[in-house]
Amino acid sequence: MSPEMKNREETLSIEERIEQIIESNDTMAEILAGDPFQKLLQREKELAGSDEVQIGGIFCVDGRLPSLFSRLLNTWRSAGSYVPKVGALLGTALEHAAKEKDRFLLELVTSHYSGKTGHGCGWAKATLQQYFDPNPEEVRDFARKVAGGTLNVITQKFNEFCKADGVTPQERVGVQIEIDTDDFGLTLVAPENRGVEMQVESLNMARLAIHHKSEILALDKSRFKDKAGIYLEKFDKTESFLEFYGDIVDLTDCLLNTKNSLVKEVDAFIREYFSDLVPAQIKGLKFMLVRNIAFEFLTGLNEVEGEPTHSFVEHDERAMVFSPRGKRFGRFLTNLQLFGTTPSNTEEAISAILMEIGLLEAHEGQKPHILFLSEPVDEKVWIELGEKNELRDLVISKQAQLFIDLHQNIEIKRLVKEGKIVIVPLIVDADTAKVLERPDYTAYL
Ligand SMILES: [Zn+2]
Repeated sequence: MSPEMKNREETLSIEERIEQIIESNDTMAEILAGDPFQKLLQREKELAGSDEVQIGGIFCVDGRLPSLFSRLLNTWRSAGSYVPKVGALLGTALEHAAKEKDRFLLELVTSHYSGKTGHGCGWAKATLQQYFDPNPEEVRDFARKVAGGTLNVITQKFNEFCKADGVTPQERVGVQIEIDTDDFGLTLVAPENRGVEMQVESLNMARLAIHHKSEILALDKSRFKDKAGIYLEKFDKTESFLEFYGDIVDLTDCLLNTKNSLVKEVDAFIREYFSDLVPAQIKGLKFMLVRNIAFEFLTGLNEVEGEPTHSFVEHDERAMVFSPRGKRFGRFLTNLQLFGTTPSNTEEAISAILMEIGLLEAHEGQKPHILFLSEPVDEKVWIELGEKNELRDLVISKQAQLFIDLHQNIEIKRLVKEGKIVIVPLIVDADTAKVLERPDYTAYL
């Protein structure tokens, strides 16, 4: 966020701040629902082979903007991507995925670090600090190991569901990806040899984008020759979203259909370390990686000399979003950062909320901090239900109960009372995240 915008924001009332975030979200929802975007999405589905592979991603709650990745990604968020055991919400998603007999699953389990600024994963750092004072490399290694553990847990659970459904288990359910939050470059991490302490083999997309730049510039009669780094200043702007997304899809398409040395390098790495992936998964994985190379080329983020300068380098989250049934409000926003969690139960939610409040306090976020409670529903169904309907009542009463439960937690109750936090319930469309209703449950307190 620019300093001017920040100054302007400081003079806003809490209600105006809430409205501003909702408005940004709804503008993005409208773009996503529109024809031009739907056409781009269709092309991406074909490039990724979505009929045969479902791609999911697990992100840390303090990692940056999964919205910068393809819209095709189903995202889950937990602190440090740490999933010690599969809870109800993620479990349901895996159970559904296991039932899709003709479609494979590919989970990208991510960890994050900062290549230039070195501030890395806050959760991983705080966890290690209970024992010693870690350096950025140690934080990065730890975060990567935790993500590896999560991948194992998910693999086991997914295959249990497969067996229960009489579906053949998958040899490999996902891969490990590291995100450099300074330039948003992805690194594919090769599986570690168990028991042998050796260097981790990896393939970095930002490096490939630089290394093979001349090849990209020469692609398709030099169609992309004027596009290197043109989105550096505007990759996060709502106004340029469609144009940027369109160029990413075009370049990804072009790269995937070219047999140049860049793509060959990606192929060779996958062949060497991921022989247990099936062709549909390889297609999906290759799409995600090559798309990130296109992203890096078009933003030029990896080529910025010295410290990166984009608006997401420092924590600048404006609010938190807590979505106990997944599909969060604000998840497609590119112009501002929101913390987001999809916890499995109220206990997990409270601990995530308290951690995020700590982070908001650390960068002097404005008080009160806004916590959106997001409940995804199908817009058409919701409107058809009308005001008087049992199903509608059920959704509303569940959210009201959660609202009450959160206010009953001693710590949260105190923060609300002291005016440090305000909880805002929302009913949103599951597909586009558009806000359909803003229920008021304060009378129940
Ligand atoms: Zn983190």
